[in-house]
Amino acid sequence: MCDCTKNILPKIERNKILNELFSKKVIFAPYTIIDIIKDFLTGNLIKVSKSIQDVRLEICSECEYRVFKSHCSKSGCLLSLKVQFLRSVCPMGKWS
Ligand code: SF4
Repeated sequence: MCDCTKNILPKIERNKILNELFSKKVIFAPYTIIDIIKDFLTGNLIKVSKSIQDVRLEICSECEYRVFKSHCSKSGCLLSLKVQFLRSVCPMGKWS
């Protein structure tokens, strides 16, 4: 039996997993907690004003992807934290 099937099956499985992740947009969450920590440690953590945070939270409060009144189901982020930073973006493009 040819060895090539051994290589194809893992690739198919890998593509299935990647497609699942892409469909949930999980790996595209553009500004993660890791980024926040990196920016904090390097002195590059920039916050937006309270009024911008309030506008972002207002948009989130009406969003179908908000869960438990506190989290974004698209990015998995805690919204009260996510809206504070300049580099944060909504994964659905509702605010930036
Ligand atoms: S970050 Fe975007 S997708 Fe997530 S709850 Fe807020 S508006 Fe909705």
